[in-house]
Amino acid sequence: MSAGSYNEARHDWESISRYVKEFQRANNLTPDGYAGPLTMAKLEQVVAKRSRISKVHPLPLLPDGRRPVATNLYRRGHWGWDYFYRYQSGDVIASDDHRIIAGGLMRWWYPADAVAVAAADGVVHVAESMSTGHWVWIRHDDGYATGYFHGTSCLVNPNDIVTQGTPVIPIGHDTRSTTWDKVHLHFEVRKPTGSQDPRHWERVDPKVWLAGAGYSS
Ligand SMILES: [Zn+2]
Repeated sequence: MSAGSYNEARHDWESISRYVKEFQRANNLTPDGYAGPLTMAKLEQVVAKRSRISKVHPLPLLPDGRRPVATNLYRRGHWGWDYFYRYQSGDVIASDDHRIIAGGLMRWWYPADAVAVAAADGVVHVAESMSTGHWVWIRHDDGYATGYFHGTSCLVNPNDIVTQGTPVIPIGHDTRSTTWDKVHLHFEVRKPTGSQDPRHWERVDPKVWLAGAGYSS
């Protein structure tokens, strides 16, 4: 082993040991920096709990049972999902921006009073007005965060503790984002890094995080 790789390995060991100590302190274990049986058991418990948090899609069912549909999925340059409701005859069209015509047919639609809801329990990290409308970011116990874009206002404030289904933003155009796009919810999932700014967090395909998510009602 060269001196360089020895130092590298030692550096890795020291940072891992530091993380282990942090974890041990947070969980009332002896902070010795060694991942012994007690620490490993606790770690497994925490990971199991994290992967079990309950998740739902960020828009409710309509009173008639219609589900929101993600039509524009995660891809390079579009790091989230766009949700719409499938149009049905009789739906009241609030404005031209509340409908999408495709192939000459009314295809997608938004009710005037649609409100995005928290996909899981969590703590509000950001709630503010952006050039694309109001947005809210919520951090969850599983280590992930969810982002809700294109609101007319924020119904929650930073540091609010929210439960799944809590209304977070009414969907629509605010004064800063008028006709740049059709009215819709853009939803993102990210893994927070050291940065306070959600734009620097690690992108995650909502498909992976939402796997198995149902609807609250
Ligand atoms: Zn989008």
